Amino acid sequence: MKDEPVITVLIAEDDLRYRRLLAVTFRQKQYQAIEVASGRDLLDRLFHRESDLVVLDLGLPDMDGLNVCTRIRQFTNVPIMILTADDSESRLIEALEAGADDYMTKPFSPEELAARARALIRRSYAMYDLESDLVCGDVRLMTHRRVLAVRDESFRLTPTEWRLMREFVLHCGEVLTHEYLLQKVWGLQHVEEHEYLRVYIRNLRRYIEKDPRHPHRLISYVGVGYALHPGDTALP
Ligand code: CA
Repeated sequence: MKDEPVITVLIAEDDLRYRRLLAVTFRQKQYQAIEVASGRDLLDRLFHRESDLVVLDLGLPDMDGLNVCTRIRQFTNVPIMILTADDSESRLIEALEAGADDYMTKPFSPEELAARARALIRRSYAMYDLESDLVCGDVRLMTHRRVLAVRDESFRLTPTEWRLMREFVLHCGEVLTHEYLLQKVWGLQHVEEHEYLRVYIRNLRRYIEKDPRHPHRLISYVGVGYALHPGDTALP
């Protein structure tokens, strides 16, 4: 087994002092801290590689912070912690309405921020803690540790990867339609967003396929959907 994988925190802050302070604080707590300085970089990074938490400065140079929040919520439920220099209540309420989970006003105590961040991350996984392990062939979702075990390797999934993988393992060997998966994992309003699925299927194949370019387990059924098979399966 590999070492327990790390928790990733994505920090979007254009003020270098705050960004470094946050990165150092999270790294001291053994989190992986990724730093970006613009809304565009944040969205780009998050779309291709999800994080366990986003710390978002509302005052980024290229995009309005509330808009960034809304855009994030269009494709992921990652917890969002807002940072703001503006403690006027209306703006904070707007941020929470746009999908943020918590906020802190500058200047903040990095220790308090890290404690609240930990609570947010825990809460985002808590819903899975009660389930027992789920198995499909040699693929096992170890729910209380939130680890995917495949043969002799183990991986820590992002929240969205986890939700998607869980659907496949729960329905081991069954073809699940694109619409079903999009609705289950991303919500009703996203049933047309097939690109999300393609990106995440590619991620899951990296974990479970011996050769991700030639999948034999997580199979695509053109125009219909995908299925996770308990053993190697020839392409349809
Ligand atoms: Ca700023």
